[in-house]
Amino acid sequence: MRIWRDKQEFKARVLEWADKLNVPVRTLSLRTMRNKWASYSTNGYLNFNSDLLAMDKKIGDYVIVHELLHFNVPNHGKLWKSLMTVHLGDYSELERKLKRASANAVRPG
Ligand SMILES: [Zn+2]
Repeated sequence: MRIWRDKQEFKARVLEWADKLNVPVRTLSLRTMRNKWASYSTNGYLNFNSDLLAMDKKIGDYVIVHELLHFNVPNHGKLWKSLMTVHLGDYSELERKLKRASANAVRPG
């Protein structure tokens, strides 16, 4: 497992994907989030859960691509799934790992 060196490396990866997926990003932050791995708003505000920094980079990529695709595809339907596969290959294992991590996460408060 390879984890992120720091916030900067994670943010740089987000911007790389945003560029590739042609998604405008106005503000980008990594912060403590209680119930979510990421959130976005259509005016370009993008937040990621800082817990991702301690997880495998592949999981970070999954969350980044997942969230960025929502700029153009608001649901998890057929189109979203096929775009996920185009960019990440078979992502089902990553999805499983992330679900497991969500279930194990102890979020105070
Ligand atoms: Zn989603």
